[in-house]
Amino acid sequence: MRGTLTVGNWKMNGGLADNATRFAALARGFRAVPGRALAVCVPFPYLAQARDALAGSAVGYGAQDVSRHASGAFTGEVSAAMLAEFGVRYAIVGHSERRQYHGERDDEVGAKARGALAAGITPIVCVGETLAERDAGSTGAVVGRQLGAVIEVLGVSVDRIVLAYEPVWAIGTGRTASPEQAQEVHARLRSQLAAAGAKDVPVLYGGSVKAANAAALYAMPDVDGGLVGGASLDANELLAIAGS
Ligand code: PEP
Repeated sequence: MRGTLTVGNWKMNGGLADNATRFAALARGFRAVPGRALAVCVPFPYLAQARDALAGSAVGYGAQDVSRHASGAFTGEVSAAMLAEFGVRYAIVGHSERRQYHGERDDEVGAKARGALAAGITPIVCVGETLAERDAGSTGAVVGRQLGAVIEVLGVSVDRIVLAYEPVWAIGTGRTASPEQAQEVHARLRSQLAAAGAKDVPVLYGGSVKAANAAALYAMPDVDGGLVGGASLDANELLAIAGS
């Protein structure tokens, strides 16, 4: 029994006043039960607010990206060591929006995951295929390549990541993978992880998860929780998903 982990990804949303309301609702509403964890990944400027507002609660927090560089002349970048100073537990790496809009490559995703681990931060590594890739029957090859690149960089340390399967066609579209479609890909990813000595890595599903569909997804044997975008902006919705 691996338990479930639900992670909210606020993306580029929020503001001090709205955040305060959301953090308070999460801190108040989430009951720590063994095997059930909840965290939110917020924009960089709000990490200190998350640290203060969630202190003493069972809700963790994280960042949505991290630089692959340790320090230096990389304007606009934020290093893993800087995130660690703010008590960050998770950093999303390789989100499809970073891959699509910022040209993030597989090897960079691996380097970001390595940097996060070195700073004591758990990388949430995202993999997923586009609709065209699914239609071409190459889902397995695409996610296998994306995860393989991270395994190549991390070696045995891959057992310290969280993996998120996020079909690009299901992100922010309202179109969710069916529980069976998710399970099929998760099982494939699980065997790839097992071959790398990391069978117990949590594998989250992401793509239009909401309270109405979370229970069916979480019931799948290889789905260990969810990475939740849009629905995570509603604290009650996120709490309901985490309780699935
Ligand atoms: C995401 O941003 O990781 C995501 C899964 O978004 P949504 O839940 O809105 O599809």
